[in-house]
Amino acid sequence: MSDPRPLIDRCPGLTRPFRASDGAIVRVRKPGGRIPTAVLRHLLGIAERWGDGRVQVTTRTNLQVRGLPLEADGSVPEEIADAVRATGLVPPTHELVRNVLCSPMGAIDLQPMVAELDEELQEIPLLEQLAGRFMWAFDNGTGDVAGEPWDVCYQALDEDHGIVALDNGRAWEISRADAPSAMLALAQEVQMARTETERPVWHSRELAYRLGDDIPDQTDRPIRVTGPLPVGTYGEDLLAGVPLGLFTGEMIRALPVLADVTLTPWRQVLIPGGAQDAEAYAAAGYVVDPADPWASISACTGLPNCVKSAIDTVSMANALVEAARQDPSIIRRPVHVSGCDRRCGEPHGEHVDLLAPADLATALAELRA
Ligand code: SF4
Repeated sequence: MSDPRPLIDRCPGLTRPFRASDGAIVRVRKPGGRIPTAVLRHLLGIAERWGDGRVQVTTRTNLQVRGLPLEADGSVPEEIADAVRATGLVPPTHELVRNVLCSPMGAIDLQPMVAELDEELQEIPLLEQLAGRFMWAFDNGTGDVAGEPWDVCYQALDEDHGIVALDNGRAWEISRADAPSAMLALAQEVQMARTETERPVWHSRELAYRLGDDIPDQTDRPIRVTGPLPVGTYGEDLLAGVPLGLFTGEMIRALPVLADVTLTPWRQVLIPGGAQDAEAYAAAGYVVDPADPWASISACTGLPNCVKSAIDTVSMANALVEAARQDPSIIRRPVHVSGCDRRCGEPHGEHVDLLAPADLATALAELRA
């Protein structure tokens, strides 16, 4: 059984590092997932100097480094904290309010809306108390990030209009200009409502309250959902998979020096102009072929770095990838390996849930069932 849900979630940050077996985890925010490669290299420098040498992208397009030392009082040493702040990814307030997804590509670019929402939210003290798992999504009409477990979603109908939806079933047609404020107003209503519940509530869908009565033009129009984008080339760009979400130094150094790349919730990075160099990116460790088993297999941290785990999930994922290279038919759907029933990093679409399989044979039997 997993632990009872705590009043305050455990999502780690610079001001609230999580102590794991291999040291501290510090997570930083990147609303919308678009990030200069120079900032990724800065984070890599921190990971290589003080951590385990890798930078991990989460399923909410945030970034984390792990294996960091901690002071006796549980805080991050000042020298490291200064280096993390120098990335520009730690705002003075609202550090833990950071889950904002955005469609990574397409004709309608919603990143300016993400920036507007992020700027406005940092002016609202109440929202600093939001649950660390609360999530906004900006979907450009393709339905890709609309498949993620958002609390509040904007989906574009055209360049200037869209639908704002709350994950308790209500939705409104709205102009693009008015959407960020409406999405923040809904978040404030969620936060106010969740302070009145008996058991800890992290998401709007868990609330019995009717919210959003001040927003006009309610609609029954559904949000379109398609789901994750496959890795591969998209025109001149490359959507490259990051096995287990872990960027190695070689992978980050392979990225263009002066460019913004875009992280996706599916352990991928969109590299502008990367299509022509797909083979070189593959050699650096990226997944560029949707048939590559790493495009379909993910795992939580597991043993030895997570003491809650019953198995070494990463070794299991590696073994499954090797098995799938011999027999591709064993991977018919995405597969996620978890070391315990918290299922960290589990994908939200249809997938095979491998919960702490005792050995490879057991895992393969579950995949073939
Ligand atoms: S799902 Fe994996 S990483 Fe998460 S707590 Fe369980 S064993 Fe640890």
